[in-house]
Amino acid sequence: MTQTQKKDPMEPKFLVPLSSPDIGEEEKEAVQEVLSTRWLALGPKIKAFEKAIQEFTGAKHAIACSSGTAGLHLCLRAAGIAENDLVLTTPFSFISSSNVMLFEKAIPVFVDVDPKTGNMDTDLAYQAIQDLMRGGAAAQKWLPRKGAENAGPLKGILPVDVFGHPVNSMAWRIIADQFGLFYLEDACEAIGARYLNTQAGTNADMSVFAFYPNKQITTGEGGMIITNDEKKADLMRALCSQGRAPGDSWLAHTYLGYNYRMDEMSAAIGEVQTKRLDSILEERAQVAAWYAEELKDVEGIELPFIEPEVTRVSWFVYVIRVASGLDRNQFIRDLDANGIPARPYFAPIHLQPFMVEQFGYQEGDFPITEDLGNRGVAIPFFTKMTQAQVKTVAEVVKKVIQMQ
Ligand SMILES: *Cc1c(COP(=O)(O)O)cnc(C)c1O
Repeated sequence: MTQTQKKDPMEPKFLVPLSSPDIGEEEKEAVQEVLSTRWLALGPKIKAFEKAIQEFTGAKHAIACSSGTAGLHLCLRAAGIAENDLVLTTPFSFISSSNVMLFEKAIPVFVDVDPKTGNMDTDLAYQAIQDLMRGGAAAQKWLPRKGAENAGPLKGILPVDVFGHPVNSMAWRIIADQFGLFYLEDACEAIGARYLNTQAGTNADMSVFAFYPNKQITTGEGGMIITNDEKKADLMRALCSQGRAPGDSWLAHTYLGYNYRMDEMSAAIGEVQTKRLDSILEERAQVAAWYAEELKDVEGIELPFIEPEVTRVSWFVYVIRVASGLDRNQFIRDLDANGIPARPYFAPIHLQPFMVEQFGYQEGDFPITEDLGNRGVAIPFFTKMTQAQVKTVAEVVKKVIQMQ
């Protein structure tokens, strides 16, 4: 088992890759087709991909962009966020859900997460919103130690569907409406997930999917915004393409915009992948089910928790947790030494060096996020993973956890 086969030059030391995009012949042909035309950008494939996502989600508008991060940034611009505005969000996420606020000099106000799912805690958030609106000492306890001296009003909430487990979007919708906040959902890890009958992202004012190669579907780099708000959609399209308002010519720029456009090759891949999305999600669910079977009752390991209201997980990564008291980093090193790649998942956002510097966060500020961050391990997971590969990983996991 410790001896690895050296077949794949890209993965010389591993028995199974950590992740692997699922690109078929149809995707390759679609790219070839684009390359034989003159339309490598701003062409029909973007429109087709956007339409496919609109149909899949039922959203009125879909806007393709160059990454999930770019999409989230556009949403915040469309929400009208300004310097020192506050947005409630989670420190247990990929960095970009908070970074986009810093791009606009807004202030992320972190709320800790549910220990089971890792999603932002609705009860805590409710409390935080009331306190922030009350102001004074009540508000202070939710604000960072520094960097919020000129804190403005609370403008919105930005929950994240962590690892493909959807948030309770009905609850967030109610909270947002009750307090007059915008609701932006980072669904970058959860395309197609369902909480009861509602698809991830579709209850929010705006939400974003991402298509980096380790996501459920990929375009290389890429993202997609969905919204039912026509005005915001128009604005985001304009901002995505150098601030050109509808009707502006190539060198007319109504707004300060960006080049956040997706190209035609990426969109061509995305359109095909979206057609396959349901079957991709089924295959990934099968891989997760194999893991659950292989790893059940293994002492020292907790498996992903799924809320009973979740009718479809959109499996993004498979993250197990080592039991409290075990050395997670040593566990990862031992997996590595035995041919299995693994990664800590996530590293808490509030403890990243630039966040500490700007806002003065300290260890202990968000204990549940830190605990999950200290114990989480993403193990190999991808659409075309075979049952044999799952067994290979599971055997090493079982062996290595006993060494801890
Ligand atoms: C992948 C991801 C994003 C966007 O990532 P990009 O690399 O910019 O496409 C944003 N938020 C979360 C939670 C993610 O997992």
